[in-house]
Amino acid sequence: MAEQKKMVEEITSMDVDFAKWYTDVVKKAELCEYTSVKGCMVLRPYGYAIWENIQRIMDGMFKETGHENVCMPMFIPESLLQKEKDHVEGFAPEVAWVTHGGNEELEERLCVRPTSETLFCEHYKSIVHSYRDLPKLYNQWVSVVRWEKTTRPFLRTREFWWQEGHTIHATAEEAQEETIRMLNVYADFCENVLAIPVVKGVKTAKERFAGAEDTYTIEALMHDGKALQSGTSHYFGDGFAKAFGIQFQDKDNQLKYPFQTSWGTTTRLIGALIMTHGDNNGLVLPPKVAPVQIVVIPVASHKAGVTEKATEVYTRLNKICRAKIDNSDNSPGWKYAEYEMKGVPLRLEIGPRDIENNQCVIVRRDSREKYFVSLDELETKIPELLEAVHKGMYEKALNRRTEMTYTAHNMDEMKDIADNKPGFIKAMWCGERACEDKLKEDVGVTSRCIPFEQESISDVCVCCGKKADKMLYWGKAY
Ligand SMILES: [Zn+2]
Repeated sequence: MAEQKKMVEEITSMDVDFAKWYTDVVKKAELCEYTSVKGCMVLRPYGYAIWENIQRIMDGMFKETGHENVCMPMFIPESLLQKEKDHVEGFAPEVAWVTHGGNEELEERLCVRPTSETLFCEHYKSIVHSYRDLPKLYNQWVSVVRWEKTTRPFLRTREFWWQEGHTIHATAEEAQEETIRMLNVYADFCENVLAIPVVKGVKTAKERFAGAEDTYTIEALMHDGKALQSGTSHYFGDGFAKAFGIQFQDKDNQLKYPFQTSWGTTTRLIGALIMTHGDNNGLVLPPKVAPVQIVVIPVASHKAGVTEKATEVYTRLNKICRAKIDNSDNSPGWKYAEYEMKGVPLRLEIGPRDIENNQCVIVRRDSREKYFVSLDELETKIPELLEAVHKGMYEKALNRRTEMTYTAHNMDEMKDIADNKPGFIKAMWCGERACEDKLKEDVGVTSRCIPFEQESISDVCVCCGKKADKMLYWGKAY
């Protein structure tokens, strides 16, 4: 018990200091570790196993929607990066450069990819010639580098892991459909796999990706009321094709410029998981990506038959889900705290009395609810409980988001909410950049998105009072 107490005490309460709580959970749950390069992290086995599950499931969704994986180089020649003006301006401040190969200074410096639009464009230029070559629906799973000044594990790191989809199409309509399709894939993934409710919408011009005509986003609300952009999908029109000279011969024998998209999600999703579902005992993982879905803990294992029965139960469970047994000599209490910290969705306790009654005790991580389950029913009950945990987590997160979403009609209300009530603020906007800038300056909020699901709060802009027909989500963001 002494050990258990010590362990729990070491986490800062999220109500006292949310940032510290976050860092504590990341460390105590053994997700990642700092390195000698500032802002670069080691993904430890437990953290990487979550990422592997995210990759596996999301990659399956990409394949189902017709995408293929490729792998591009990690270096981009400076001249290539500079071909699209807006794109280079957007990324230049945070690019890391390679200037030497061994002791020789390079004739042209190479940037370490911050994103790979330019590499895909160069490649498309060499392989796309005819309408028969289109579309190309490519994706890659790699890491990228952005030289951020302030960094935080998973949320903002100099090197991070991600997937970037890059597609090229014969028509604008097809590319626009693809942009929305992939946004929907992301939203589906967040809600049905990660149990994180998201708001789908389009970014304002100010918040758009460098070089895009439209940027679509899914926005999630964290425990502390801050927004987290969790995935983006960009429509490029034919701007990149024109800048890179990509042309194809269409069915009518005319040379035309194709239309492109790109879309990405990153290891940031792990940060989103921690900050959406975690509590003061540590991580709470959604079952679909949890490296361990159920942990078997023998109670009074020195008594005859307990270890054997626990092992038998574990063996059965391992056939239907990701199970683990902890036979170590730590006390059951210590183990309970340890697997709560790691967010394991279900804990199964089994001791001599349970064995006598042909049952076990199951405890849910998300709600702490306790169930007595007959050992004859494990194969049906455990999948049901895992599903119940997912639903419970999603509903809890959705309820919290609903409670933390406010409506503002004027600047006074906007300021009051922003200062006193962390969360999303819904408010009307006239479409002027000046109002967006003023809200950032005076209230400290940024526009998160123009949601697809519109509501009419009033017909005037929250900032300037002029006519407005768009409702936006505003907030403080990571
Ligand atoms: Zn306005």
